[in-house]
Amino acid sequence: MELAKRVSTLTPSSTLAITAKAKELKEQGHDVIGLGAGEPDFNTPQYIIDAAVRSMEEGHTKYTPSGGLPKLKEAIIEKFKQDQGLTYTAKEIFVGTGAKHVLYTLFQALLNEGDEVIIPSPYWVSYPEQVKLAGGEPVFVEGKESNDFKLTPAQLEPVLTDRTKAIIINSPSNPTGSLYTQEELAALGEVCLKHNVLIISDEIYEKLVYDGAKHTSVAEISPQLKENTVVINGVSKSHSMTGWRIGYAAGPEALIQAMTNLASHSTSNPTTSAQYGAIAAYTEDDGSVEKMRVAFEERLHTIYDKLVAIPGVSCVKPKGAFYLFPNVEEAAALTGHETVDDFVKVLLEEEKVALVPGSGFGAPDNVRLSYATSLELLEAAIDRIFRFVEAKR
Ligand code: PLP
Repeated sequence: MELAKRVSTLTPSSTLAITAKAKELKEQGHDVIGLGAGEPDFNTPQYIIDAAVRSMEEGHTKYTPSGGLPKLKEAIIEKFKQDQGLTYTAKEIFVGTGAKHVLYTLFQALLNEGDEVIIPSPYWVSYPEQVKLAGGEPVFVEGKESNDFKLTPAQLEPVLTDRTKAIIINSPSNPTGSLYTQEELAALGEVCLKHNVLIISDEIYEKLVYDGAKHTSVAEISPQLKENTVVINGVSKSHSMTGWRIGYAAGPEALIQAMTNLASHSTSNPTTSAQYGAIAAYTEDDGSVEKMRVAFEERLHTIYDKLVAIPGVSCVKPKGAFYLFPNVEEAAALTGHETVDDFVKVLLEEEKVALVPGSGFGAPDNVRLSYATSLELLEAAIDRIFRFVEAKR
């Protein structure tokens, strides 16, 4: 069977590939520590589960409007008001089946063949693939490690062309954990306004920021920037609800309407009970979101120093999300590996620690290590990496 051209160039998710390899080794009886996970290791808070169960018992088991339940949109609007002081109407909100599919729908609604989308690297693995699937062309611009991997206006200006349609800003970032300040966003935003480039602001890790750092949405900086921005967010990471598949977009009405129309012919609506769970997530609060944040912060503090003590490893200290993105180029060379990809492969085979190679994120000298697992396992994993490097150098 001949498959469609559009899938022939798809790169499978590197995160999922390493997770599958680690699982295979585990099934063979090996004691594998997987640090590839992209999801919080906590259960969804009970009050959210209760609300979803209640909704089903009350008979809310049918289709909902395509772009989401009005009550959920109201809860999201209230969240924007509380957290960012932003005012949206229901027509400016689209709820979809997870932020990933919301982004997919956005690119399908936005891009024509050959439209360019600026993707600062290192980037989340799905951005380039989703842009390509919509006929667009990813344009990568490298965020320098010396600037916490963040893009500057001086780097942005020269890559803009008359085909540039949008830029993706992901703060806090997966995989680097970097967080843009208000000033940095304002400066990038000014360039985007000047060149009529839409800002896609992926804020899925908004609630996970550390050491007193504050998350800023580019949309809250000025009314002009709000009009020129689509904010992407969801409950997966903040409320440990990855399996529920609820994400949303807030932005210009015409774009949101187009996304809603597209969804009406693809997903119809996000799962009804999951939407009721998300309403509870945003309208009630039992302190779990903050408790999870504090747990991540503690893990970060505990393992960061141990990680950078490994010979040949350096790491920008993350300000958010739940990943570390160390540069291990020197450690790979010290241990006789030509590439970081090889280093990761042999480390998994010999020490049974699963990291994700940075090559999939556009940063071949780095690896991604998720700290969405217990402190005990994290410390054991770092000890194993230390042992691996020490033994071979
Ligand atoms: N954006 C980023 C940067 C992510 O890391 C993820 C998940 O890994 C998503 C979006 C998608 O989140 P979800 O589809 O679970 O809402």
